Formats: sequence, structure tokens, C-alpha cells
Amino acid sequence: MLNIIILGAPGSGKGTQAKKLIANSEFKQYPSSSGLIHISTGDLLREEMDKNTELGVHITDAMNKGEYVSDAHASQLVMNKTHEYGGYRVDGFVFDGFPRTLPQCLFLDRLLASFQAEVNVVINLDVDNLTLIERLLERGKTSARPEDKNKKIIIQRIKTYYEDIESIHKYWSDIIIDINGNGTPEEVNQRIINALSGESTK
Ligand code: AMP
Repeated sequence: MLNIIILGAPGSGKGTQAKKLIANSEFKQYPSSSGLIHISTGDLLREEMDKNTELGVHITDAMNKGEYVSDAHASQLVMNKTHEYGGYRVDGFVFDGFPRTLPQCLFLDRLLASFQAEVNVVINLDVDNLTLIERLLERGKTSARPEDKNKKIIIQRIKTYYEDIESIHKYWSDIIIDINGNGTPEEVNQRIINALSGESTK
């Protein structure tokens, strides 16, 4: 299996890049990487929110404040989804928006170990804060996501992201690749593909 985490602040392009990666995921070093599955905790949580369950209400509350949902809830959704796809029987997963805390990193390691697999690469999308805010406000004009429309919540989400990120970077320090996330989606995608093919990321 080839398991990839895409790390980055809100607005850094994780979802866009995850989708591009799974559309073109044959990498020289990784012979069976053509059928990667995209798992986005944001999307899974929004699906849960729409169901209006007790969990849905908890999620809406956290999202509206720019905070995280509990590790247990996020981890459970990821575990269910990987099992739905048959666990070790797939070529691998691209995790987008997970893990976001250290306990989630530990959980993911244990989950993948149960498939005799591991996290192979962590792609860290680097985008400066002003660009993040601009991108999210722009997305807020057209998206159905209320948390993208309010500048205060956007800033809170970015702050929440920075609270845990140092420990996450340390945890994956052996396999993390920093990618300049500024520029067009195509430019960033090309940098990621170059990095995964062992070429220069500059
Ligand atoms: P995203 O679409 O990845 O920006 O996620 C939207 C919101 O869902 C975040 O602001 C959090 O409130 C929540 N969320 C997504 N992923 C996680 C996670 N791994 N752990 C906790 N909360 C999460």
C-alpha cells in the first residue's frame, strides 16, 4: 500500500491536491499506486452533519466555532471508511484533513498497522496566512460552507491548526516533504508529483 497524508492549514489546498493526486497516482517508486482512495474528514463530518444526529449537532457546533471535533469522533469516521473500502485490499489512501492532532497520528499508525501498512509520505502544503485568508474568503463567496464566510471564524480555524501542528511535524519528521502551496493548483500538483517521483521540488 501507498498511504499519503496531506497536511496544511485551512485553505492550503489539501482537498484540491488530494483529488488531483488520486486522478494521477502512478508513481515510479510505488508500483501499485494507481488506485488510491481519498479520505477527507471534513467531507465525512459534513455528511454526518447533514444527518442531524447527536454527533451531527456536536460537529456543527465545533465547526461553527472554528474548533476541532473530538479525536474519538474523527478517528472513528476514518476507521469506518477504511474498513468500508476493504482496508488492506486497496492500493492505499490519501488522507486529507486527518490527522490533525497527535492522538490522531497515533491512531492512524495503529489503524494502518492493522492492515500491515504504514504512512509512507506526508506532504506539507506551505501557504502564508494572508493567502490562506484570501482564499477562504473567496471560497466563501461560492461554497455552501458557512465557516468560510466569516473572517473571525477563518482566523480561529487557522489558529486552531497551528496549536497542534508542531507536534505533528515532529511526529512525521522522517517522512515529511514540504511543498510550496502557493500558485495555481496545477503548479502545486506538479511540485507534489516531482517530489513523489524523487525529483527536485523547487
Ligand atoms: P476541513 O474541510 O478539512 O477544513 O474540515 C472542516 C472542519 O471539520 C474543521 O474546521 C474541523 O472543525 C472539522 N475537522 C475536520 N477534520 C478533523 C479532524 N481530523 N479532527 C477534528 N476535527 C476535524
